[in-house]
Amino acid sequence: STNQNPALRQPAAPQTSTARLHRSQDAYLRFVNSELGKKVSGSLGLPRPVPLRRYVPGQPLLEGPAVLAGAGSAPLLDALGGFLAPRGVEVVRPQLEGVDGTPGADGEPAAPAELPLTDGVRPAALVVDMTGAERLADLDVLRRAARATLKRLGRSGRVIVLGATPEALVAAGASSEQVATAQALEGIMRSIGKELRGGATANLLWVDRDLVGAMQDAAASGGSAGAVLPAELVEPLTFLLSARSAYVSGQPLRVRRAAGAARPATPELLPVAEDATPFVGRVVVVTGAARGIGADIARVLSRDGATVVGVDVPQAGDALAAVANEIGGLALQLDITRPEAGQRIAEAVARASRGTGPARLHAIVHNAGITRDKLLVNTDAARWASVLEVNLAVQLRINEVLLSGAEGGLGEGSRIVGVASTSGIGGNRGQSNYAASKAGVMGLVRSMAPRLAERGITVNAVAPGFIETEMTGKIPAVTREVGRRINSMAQGGLPVDVAETIAFLARPGNDGVTGQVLRVCGQSQLGA
Ligand code: NAD
Repeated sequence: STNQNPALRQPAAPQTSTARLHRSQDAYLRFVNSELGKKVSGSLGLPRPVPLRRYVPGQPLLEGPAVLAGAGSAPLLDALGGFLAPRGVEVVRPQLEGVDGTPGADGEPAAPAELPLTDGVRPAALVVDMTGAERLADLDVLRRAARATLKRLGRSGRVIVLGATPEALVAAGASSEQVATAQALEGIMRSIGKELRGGATANLLWVDRDLVGAMQDAAASGGSAGAVLPAELVEPLTFLLSARSAYVSGQPLRVRRAAGAARPATPELLPVAEDATPFVGRVVVVTGAARGIGADIARVLSRDGATVVGVDVPQAGDALAAVANEIGGLALQLDITRPEAGQRIAEAVARASRGTGPARLHAIVHNAGITRDKLLVNTDAARWASVLEVNLAVQLRINEVLLSGAEGGLGEGSRIVGVASTSGIGGNRGQSNYAASKAGVMGLVRSMAPRLAERGITVNAVAPGFIETEMTGKIPAVTREVGRRINSMAQGGLPVDVAETIAFLARPGNDGVTGQVLRVCGQSQLGA
């Protein structure tokens, strides 16, 4: 590490080559996208995973128009148009009435012609506002919008459905039909995710009624400007539309009204352009940063402006130093199971923020994790305890220290992000200790989020599926090939895909997403 105070540096230029962030070990994916591979896979009917569009700073949010539709009162529809247009996205609102019109020669209706788009132009996204859907019959709007659009959806296209959060509807005493209609969206969205090809994703934003109500009130009192999208929706929508969410598909994500919002009083003051470096002047800690997913989390957060303190065991000191040097961050050699770990982390944060005012931690990413796989009948006490210790107990202990108000800790508006796993959702043969620890992380998130909401602190986790790392590189070939392919993208994710999702959860403006576990699994069948 260097003596230079990293907090005083200019925001890190993207020194990281995107090639490095985007390298895949998947030889089959490379093969089927070669000229020979296309022929072979075509004639044998083999799965054809495509290279996913991934985020590069400066790239447009979408590379084509967005199709917008809405059911019932569709309260967000106008605001969605107002959100997309200043971001350079052409908005298309199709006439859905004719979608089931006279069948053409092939028996299929001439649906694509219903889109008011020039021939050959492929929509990059379909966004459907179903938050106003109250009757089962309203669901038909989603079917028709999909029918009009999905055959023409471009490479790595995006389908986003917005719906009212079912639990919030229940709490508000909505009719059973309304709750059933809202819940039905999840089944539709997950099925769309499984039908899409070409690297496209489908996701669902569950929106709190409060948010929609507040927007309608603001529009009613604010007069001419029209509806402005609730600020809490800006980051989730941007993430799911952008290439940052390359490997997130088939997922519902809840967006709540933020408490104690430290945001502009009027939503009109929100930046129109996507903020590429929201972490400038902020310190973040990443555990397990020497390699794998953790190293890419450190790189992505640094690319987006953060001063990163990377933590890893002393044995990984050289690799950790290399990552820290690459991104101009701080390396902290520390076994996080040590009782003084929380304190040591806070001290490192204080060193990293020297000269920039009060020593404060913006976010901690609990990424360090281990596996000690064995069938449960063969698992001794040591294998059991070590995995629960590193993957779960440490997170509980360190959070407690960092939330105690001490220097270098987490304050108002800060972020806690845990790394869980789809194994913690679906279970996995030979991984009862690991699955226990990862499911426990989800419990931790659920418990802490409401308690910290008043301080504007969000607590979330990601649950990666099959990610191409050294860890998964050691899985026996056949098992590995199955793990890689049994998801809607027919490929493993890259560490950068997990890193981008974590960066999304950690963004200062993302204050409406808390208590959530977001899977980064390409809609894996495991734990589905
Ligand atoms: P990895 O083994 O490549 O890296 C983990 C890092 O954590 C290592 O550098 C290791 O030294 C560090 N670490 C372990 N114990 C530590 C301790 N006591 N103190 C400090 N550092 C410690 O693993 P990865 O594949 O990059 O996984 C990162 C996280 O993602 C883990 O929590 C893992 O469970 C989770 N995950 C990975 C996958 C996958 O497919 N690779 C899938 C789901 C979840």
